[in-house]
Amino acid sequence: MTPAQWRAALRAEGVRFVEYRGWTTRGRDAATGKTFGPVHAILNHHTAGRDSLATVAMNGLPDLPPPLAHAYLPKSGVLTLVADGRANHAGLAAKNVFDALVAERDLPRQSTASGTVDGNDAMYGIEVENLGDNVDTYTAEQYDTWVRFNAAICRHHGWSAASVAGHLETSVEGKVDPRGPVAGYGNRGRFTFTMDRFRADVAERLAHPASWDPTHQEDDDMPGYVNLGLAKPFTLEPGAWDSIEFTTEWNDTAGDHGTDGSVFVRGAARFTGSVSLAIDGLAVGHVVQARMSEYDGDKLAKDHPIDELIGTPGGTFRVVPLVKRLAKDRGMRVRLLNQSDAPITITSAVLTALVFKES
Ligand SMILES: [Zn+2]
Repeated sequence: MTPAQWRAALRAEGVRFVEYRGWTTRGRDAATGKTFGPVHAILNHHTAGRDSLATVAMNGLPDLPPPLAHAYLPKSGVLTLVADGRANHAGLAAKNVFDALVAERDLPRQSTASGTVDGNDAMYGIEVENLGDNVDTYTAEQYDTWVRFNAAICRHHGWSAASVAGHLETSVEGKVDPRGPVAGYGNRGRFTFTMDRFRADVAERLAHPASWDPTHQEDDDMPGYVNLGLAKPFTLEPGAWDSIEFTTEWNDTAGDHGTDGSVFVRGAARFTGSVSLAIDGLAVGHVVQARMSEYDGDKLAKDHPIDELIGTPGGTFRVVPLVKRLAKDRGMRVRLLNQSDAPITITSAVLTALVFKES
């Protein structure tokens, strides 16, 4: 993210922030000879100290030159942008966890045996002020900004909350951060920080416009129900991506299906649901890839992560989850790639989704 992109993303998400002097050119790129990025995830830390801005931004630690993160978040909830380049926060990350972050899969427990990667190459870092003693409490203002900061980056890159990690999840050096009690969030009272809860809070933000207020109760937000299927089976040749044409409409209260059979939802909207696929002719162990793709009219605008369907004896059946926000005027399709060496038949594709329209 460029400095301009940082500012725009944080402002849109309602993050209160200030800028450390010179932050736009600060980083360890020149000193290490390694360029920061491409970036694949956000790594969250607690400072294990008090008044840590000077340490994070300027002083570093005896064996660790600054900057120690891209952002510093004190208890006031007003964040400081510290660096735009490479920062010393991540240390060595287990490769199996890093790979899962890149693919936006559920995170496995870190395995040193899988190898390690230099997390500072490819992760944004935020240091959140807390002693880390499981007594010191994150303020409600601090937690709210923390969620917004992670959501702003995810929204900018088109990532889901599955690109968000805690240092304790990636580290092969026994890190325990972040942890501790939280004073509250939205309409929720005191609770204990966990990365799963934090990711759920980021995901909830991402399912709303960037201007969303977590204390807001939505009772006027009625979803549309979409239920589509195939009129008849179709054949998919090896090697080419093809969109599923949903030719049967059982229900579409969102009103998006119709002129273009392959589009099942149009933006601006968020949606959640699944598509159930039944495939004949896929050899055991062979693979069909499924993904959601965004279109501007007929033009492919963006691909989302791939789900793999692996051939099983007696026919292949798989339910692929659909959860996303879709920008205004984009149409979403489900695309399949037959990676086996023989034609296959899609005998059934049933899509069910709840669609929340955004103005
Ligand atoms: Zn850490």
